[in-house]
Amino acid sequence: MFNKTRADQKNLKIADESASESRKQVSGLRSLDSEYLDIRDSIPTGLKLVREYEEARERILKVLRGTREDWDSYRWQLKNRVSDVEVLKGIIHLSENEIREIEVTGRQYRWSVSPHYLSLMDPEDSNCPIRLQAIPSIKEYMGEPGLDYPMNVDKQLYPPLVARLYPDRLIIKLTNMCSMFCRHCQRKRDIDSRDVIHPMSRIQEAIDYVRENDEVRDVLLTGGDALALSDDQLDYILTELGNISHVEIKRLGSRMPCVMPQRITPELCEILSKHDPVYLNTQFNHPREVTVEAQRAVDMLTRSGVVVRDQTVLLKRINDDPHVMKKLMQELLKIKVAPYYLFDCKKVDGIRHFGVPLDVGLNIIKKMRGFTSGMAVPTFIKHVPDARGKVPIYPRNQYGPVFEDTE
Ligand code: SF4
Repeated sequence: MFNKTRADQKNLKIADESASESRKQVSGLRSLDSEYLDIRDSIPTGLKLVREYEEARERILKVLRGTREDWDSYRWQLKNRVSDVEVLKGIIHLSENEIREIEVTGRQYRWSVSPHYLSLMDPEDSNCPIRLQAIPSIKEYMGEPGLDYPMNVDKQLYPPLVARLYPDRLIIKLTNMCSMFCRHCQRKRDIDSRDVIHPMSRIQEAIDYVRENDEVRDVLLTGGDALALSDDQLDYILTELGNISHVEIKRLGSRMPCVMPQRITPELCEILSKHDPVYLNTQFNHPREVTVEAQRAVDMLTRSGVVVRDQTVLLKRINDDPHVMKKLMQELLKIKVAPYYLFDCKKVDGIRHFGVPLDVGLNIIKKMRGFTSGMAVPTFIKHVPDARGKVPIYPRNQYGPVFEDTE
């Protein structure tokens, strides 16, 4: 019974050969990505920096005289956004030179950072990728001039809050308010000197415009940050849009899941769940931003039926490295944020120093496609002011990893 026939022996030999072939291929797969595997654990991520962030939170609460309960309240976070250099220097280390830069640049471009986002900063590192996104630098003020507006469409808003470039969708800009004024913001010139939520009568004009144009099936509410509006205001606007039969989907543009996740409350989620389908496009630019708090916020949103997608901006010294970008996208998938776009930084006044050559972005995509889940690879986008919207760009001859013949 245990005697092997000649056919059995042949089959066993074939099985042995194919196991050894696949062992060879698997070890080849590992070596294809060895550069990333060697450093991936040294890239700081918010999900790992829990203790450091906890200590920073305590330090910031002391400076702002807040309590642990205050920290979890988005109203407290909004009210206590830091925009005073004297307060800031009690939270992170600033040289005399940096203090002067903030004062000079701050006169031209307003700045303001949520306590949550401040807690993600390395207090000693002036090149911390979180600090570079939040704290003014003289390069904004002294840098190469750029365009006033990133897209021609932003110049002509008619009705006043509507921006429209595509046949079936449009943007309604509800406010100029944000929980933080990102230094790389393409709408920098709209930030103005004070926070404004546009009057409901103006917003109503925009809604009426949508009602009168039945080719519009997709409406993006943005600003500024759409979640700067109160729950009641959002509920009203989403209800009005939901009552228009040709509006199939509503989208929200908000960076709050990243920079002020406390804004995602059970009450807000309850409202959003009533207006299905709702998509939320957010922006994470570095793995340090993918925190336990962001994870909790995204979990609440997705459980309410909101689809959350990421639109990263490619930024010099922040994420212009293929390994950092890959880590960021992998961390985002872990917290259920789907990578969507990677934007080339626009050539707008005050942000040109964040730009990198196009090849840098193409190389990042080249090093991701085929080396990590397809879901983790965003579409690389360049905005061409006179073209009709976003132009996707792909590396030439991109096939993913190349297998060497090891025989
Ligand atoms: S949250 Fe968005 S709109 Fe607001 S400053 Fe940042 S990039 Fe600009």
